[in-house]
Amino acid sequence: MAKKGLLLCVCLGTCPSFQKMDIFEVLNRARREKLVDWVGIHPQLCSDDGDEYFKTLLQGADVDELYVAGCDPNMQRKMFRDAFEMAGFPRSNHKGIEIRNLDTDGAYTVIKENIETGI
Ligand code: SF4
Repeated sequence: MAKKGLLLCVCLGTCPSFQKMDIFEVLNRARREKLVDWVGIHPQLCSDDGDEYFKTLLQGADVDELYVAGCDPNMQRKMFRDAFEMAGFPRSNHKGIEIRNLDTDGAYTVIKENIETGI
């Protein structure tokens, strides 16, 4: 079985794009429905300490699919490239999910659809 993780990234928690959703409820639903093996939240993965976080989390880790729900997946791909390289984590195992400007139900639905289809 593929090991799956889900991280929420929320632009410091102050950006209006994430104000309509309850981020803890989104993750708790994912936990209740066992969508993934583990969940987490980071306030700013595209910062220097976000790189460090990825390195610490992913170096030698058993993670086949890392879902990051936050900003645009193409932006994520560019911003996380160096961190994944430093961690030796295959970029193809990262799957970005756009959840900006959604409410709790909307964000959860998009996350669930992406994880269930493996996109
Ligand atoms: S990675 Fe995306 S969602 Fe996370 S802080 Fe940076 S811009 Fe915001």
